[in-house]
Amino acid sequence: MEVRISGTHFPLETLGPGRRLGVWFQGCSLACAGCMSRHTWAARGGTSRHVDELLELWREALDGGAEGLTVSGGEPLQQPDALAELLAGAAGLRNARAGRGPEGGRAPADLLVYTGYEPAEWTERQERALAGADAVVTGRFRVAEPTRLVWRGSANQRIRPRTALGAVRYAPHLEREATGARLQAVVTPGAGAGRGMGLRLYGVPLRGELARAERALRGTGVSLRDASWRP
Ligand code: SF4
Repeated sequence: MEVRISGTHFPLETLGPGRRLGVWFQGCSLACAGCMSRHTWAARGGTSRHVDELLELWREALDGGAEGLTVSGGEPLQQPDALAELLAGAAGLRNARAGRGPEGGRAPADLLVYTGYEPAEWTERQERALAGADAVVTGRFRVAEPTRLVWRGSANQRIRPRTALGAVRYAPHLEREATGARLQAVVTPGAGAGRGMGLRLYGVPLRGELARAERALRGTGVSLRDASWRP
C-alpha cells in the first residue's frame, strides 16, 4: 500500500523513549494554531512511499538497536489503512525478534503514534488503525496551554498506553517533565539549486523556543527561510 510521508529519521531521540525510527505522515487538516509542522499539512505534499519501504527502514533500525518506532505527522489517522499496515508489519518484525530472546537485555521496541484527534473523535476505521500501537499521544496542539510534560507540546495532550508493553514503557513518563533536550537538530542538503542547507528540528519545543533558536542562529549569521512554523 502507498502512503504519503513527510520524512523519516533514525535515530530520533526526542519523541519517545530511547533511540527510535521516526516516520512523519503527510497531510493534516486539523490546522492547529501555532503548529510547528505546517509543511506536513498539504495532503498531496511530501512523497509517496510503499509501506514495505518503511518496514525495510524499520528492519534496519532494529538492526541498529532501535528502541521504538514513532509515527507522527501530519496526521497519521488521516491515512488509517496505511497506518494499520505499517503498525501491523512493524509489530510483526519486532515480535519475531523478541521471539529469539532479548537482545543485549533490551525490552522489545515499542510502537508510538501521535495524533491530534481525541479518542472520542476516532472513527471505527481509525480505532482499528491503532490496533498495533503500544501507546498513543492524543489531542490537538493548543498554543495557549504550554507544558513541560515530556514529549508533549501542550498540557491537554495525553500519553495513552494501549498494550502491556506500552503500559510498562510509558508509566514512568505519563506525568514526567522533560529534563533533557526537547529538540534534535539535523542539518540536511537544501532542496533545489541555491537553496542553501536544510535544518530539521525533531521534538516538541517549549513556548518561544523556536523564536529563540532562530534569533540565536541569526546571531551567528545563519538566517532561516521558509520556516515550517510560520504561516
Ligand atoms: S500540531 Fe499536529 S494535529 Fe495540529 S495541525 Fe500540526 S500536524 Fe496537525
